[in-house]
Amino acid sequence: MNVKDLRLSGRKNHKENTIVKAKNVLFGSEKIVLIGGPCAVESEKQVEEIAKGVHGVSVYRGGSFKPRTSPYSFLGLEKEGIQILKKISEEHKIPFVTEITKIEDLDYFIENVDIIQIGARDMQNFELLKAVGRTKKPVLLKRGFGNTIEELLLSSEYILKEGNPNVILCERGIRTFENSERFTLDIGAISIIKRYSHLPVIVDPSHASGDPFYIESLSLAAIAAGADGLMIEIHNDPANALSDKDQALTIEQYNKLVEKIAPVAKAIGRSV
Ligand code: PEP
Ligand code: MN
Repeated sequence: MNVKDLRLSGRKNHKENTIVKAKNVLFGSEKIVLIGGPCAVESEKQVEEIAKGVHGVSVYRGGSFKPRTSPYSFLGLEKEGIQILKKISEEHKIPFVTEITKIEDLDYFIENVDIIQIGARDMQNFELLKAVGRTKKPVLLKRGFGNTIEELLLSSEYILKEGNPNVILCERGIRTFENSERFTLDIGAISIIKRYSHLPVIVDPSHASGDPFYIESLSLAAIAAGADGLMIEIHNDPANALSDKDQALTIEQYNKLVEKIAPVAKAIGRSV
């Protein structure tokens, strides 16, 4: 680990854990943050049904500018989707996170979005990192699936160096030779990040596994390993989801999972 360059993200000059505040939600406190919502915002009805049905979610998610592997896939509702998220988030008094893909949209995000997500594919888009670093908005920085933990921390350093201290890291699985799940969740990354950095770290078991079958065990493992939160994809009708339909939990599956998280959190002195 190149700790020398972790000038702002590292523990050397900053021993205490950082707490990042997004509206009424704290990342990195004793309370574990549950982020939930669809992969992509599809309609107001969809987001509203999910928001009404889920228990224990303290931040909504939903992609609106979608970086998709194929240009023929659903690419998101863009600004219209952000307005849907904003409306439902205000109604339920729950902040939301959504992904930015280009600097030109930054002013719009500053005005309308609570937490700005930088996706795995943009983890080393250094100009985008610097641009969000010049704001004070909380930034959820996802680990690239071909990137080391050191590279993730150095990417966070780009944001911090511009003056934005509000960075939340996210482990979302990396590409390995194992091909029985979508990616491989690097569970060890949580304690490695905690050892070298004071920044909060959450885990996304949905993109890691790509399959609801594994999401419960990965979620519980992540909490037991010290993650400060989870980000999980939920859909009101997974079979007809426009994006990542094979990995979305139903509202019922999600609510059952939340009940199982509480005792694990309690066992390590935390709450949900
Ligand atoms: C997402 O969280 O919407 C997403 C696209 O994930 P990732 O960037 O980790 O692939
Ligand atoms: Mn997705």
